[in-house]
Amino acid sequence: LVPRLRPFTATVFAEMTALAVRHDAVNLGQGFPDTDGPAGMLETAKNSLFGGDNQYPPGPGRPELRAAIARHRQRYGTDYDPDTEVLVTAGATEAITATLLALTEAGDEVIVVEPYYDSYAAAVAMAGAQRRVIGLTEAGDGRLELDLDAFRAAITPRTRAVLLNSPHNPTGTVFSRAQLSEVARLCVEHDLVAVTDEVYEHLVFDGGEHVPLASLPGMRERTVAISSAGKTFNCTGWKIGWVCSSAELVAAVKAAKQFITFVSGGPLQPAVAYALENELDWVEDLRTSLQEKRDRLSAGLADAGFAVRPSFGTYFVTADVRPLGFSDAAELAWALPERVGVVAVPVNVFTDHPDEWKHLLRFAFCKRNEVIDEAVERLRKLV
Ligand code: PMP
Ligand code: GLN
Repeated sequence: LVPRLRPFTATVFAEMTALAVRHDAVNLGQGFPDTDGPAGMLETAKNSLFGGDNQYPPGPGRPELRAAIARHRQRYGTDYDPDTEVLVTAGATEAITATLLALTEAGDEVIVVEPYYDSYAAAVAMAGAQRRVIGLTEAGDGRLELDLDAFRAAITPRTRAVLLNSPHNPTGTVFSRAQLSEVARLCVEHDLVAVTDEVYEHLVFDGGEHVPLASLPGMRERTVAISSAGKTFNCTGWKIGWVCSSAELVAAVKAAKQFITFVSGGPLQPAVAYALENELDWVEDLRTSLQEKRDRLSAGLADAGFAVRPSFGTYFVTADVRPLGFSDAAELAWALPERVGVVAVPVNVFTDHPDEWKHLLRFAFCKRNEVIDEAVERLRKLV
């Protein structure tokens, strides 16, 4: 393995899920739902599979899916031409990697917010670029915010792009319009490309709003907006994602994408198109139910003795292990499956500063209530 990829041999999700299987543990580690997506979507996929629709789809994605994606983005006030400004990818993961491969190279710097989703560091490394990590700061209400001073300080003449994820995995924070407006201003001032990972765009709680950076002044042409069907329609295994941006940036991403997977998920693409057009009420029910699950798990964790941090979106809540007498969440995470039969992910695996983040565990609440309750029951026996 080449040196630049040596830090990335095993993903924490694969390791934790393997541990869960070995110890028959309740898996609140890897974020995937344990119920299915809308029936109409599944039915559409079945019809494609049995209707002979099993060969390569067009390179940029099936036209009905690109049209549905463009229509969906109109909810944010942004218009994209489905023929030139939308590209279907193998999940958000390929979209992010292809974007970085297409737009950055050795000598370029990419600003990444920590904690960051694990594939970001690997994707920057694959492109040969350097990541410049900035952190989050705590606002008065316990909400984590972008550290805008650190962002300003991280910009150098070599900065090419900023990679932003909101709603944010793993913390569950959602960046505000005011903060994103300042990000937008800095991107315009310094001529940066923004890559926005919006896979949890529909999973914002308590009446909060998801603000796509691309919808802010001056940003549409310089933002590669990325999302995927996995979290919106409970189909993380389908790996149908997409990119919306200017024709120029989409063409660049496509140049890289076509030699990574070429195309993928042909028979699933019409089903995702169907879901984007017809199942947003189902998604609203999903959002409501996930908000209840967030409350259920947060209350249970607090009851078990954790100091639970507020989550405003995504599948995840984080909790400080110190009130239980532990000082190292990573150590606890490795022991947890065997000790009580629960899997969680230590937040510091998503950072370049493991000591600063060593007290937090991330728990996924995208599970059936009985699974959440069983995990809480087991965690109560921890001390
Ligand atoms: N970004 C974030 C923040 C994620 O949590 C995930 C995991 N689902 C992804 C990207 C990957 O999305 P996909 O499965 O569509 O590749
Ligand atoms: N996005 C999911 C998480 O954060 C996992 C995706 C994966 O396993 N790569 O848990």
